[in-house]
Amino acid sequence: MPFFSRLLHHTILVIPFECATCKKWPSTAFEGVTGVCQSCIQMHAHAPLFPVPKGLDDCAAAVDFDAPWSALISRYKFAPEPGLGRLFAGLMRRESHILELLEDADIVIPLPLATERLEERGFNQALTLAKHLVKHKIDAFSLIRIRDTAPQRTLTYDARQGNVANAFALQAIPHKAFASTHTERHTSFEDQHIVLIDDVMTTGATLAAAAAPLYRAGAARVSAVVIARTPLNHNQPR
Ligand SMILES: [Zn+2]
Repeated sequence: MPFFSRLLHHTILVIPFECATCKKWPSTAFEGVTGVCQSCIQMHAHAPLFPVPKGLDDCAAAVDFDAPWSALISRYKFAPEPGLGRLFAGLMRRESHILELLEDADIVIPLPLATERLEERGFNQALTLAKHLVKHKIDAFSLIRIRDTAPQRTLTYDARQGNVANAFALQAIPHKAFASTHTERHTSFEDQHIVLIDDVMTTGATLAAAAAPLYRAGAARVSAVVIARTPLNHNQPR
């Protein structure tokens, strides 16, 4: 890490802040997570265990999509508060399974948004997370979302599968307008381990739909890491 980035990183970790969930002031970074106090992390940040969704090789989440994280993730995406990306990346880095997958990845792909959604929000929350998590190997060009879909949480299990089928594709020659710092474009996915990054996973249908064109392009493995996974007792398939 270059000197000034390292200095900035260390400075951010020692600056006191107001806890984003319980409002405790002053709070300081705990286990590399800044933005939420130590007691909130100890009380609420537990990585859920769950079966790997069909259509992926592996999958890991930092927390359950539950209080207080669900409200914070909504603020991150819809307020929007892109600055919360650093907090969520810190939470994800605490989970060893997520770190192992990111280290093993040849290519990291943040889930793309449809153009209209990106224009409306002004940023892609998955790309912001990816940039906090890895400095290289991010490809934000090749995978595109060819149609917008209804939010998965509003649908039944069957409707979810149909909702996202064929929603993603690989584009051969990306437009230069997609260029962005810290990202690169890969021309071949053959025999690569690709790790997808997203904010929330419900059944995994969206991630599996994003993985499909990568497997067709020859990927050896496609895994996914997310901030939060919707717990089994919430909004489950009927
Ligand atoms: Zn707190």
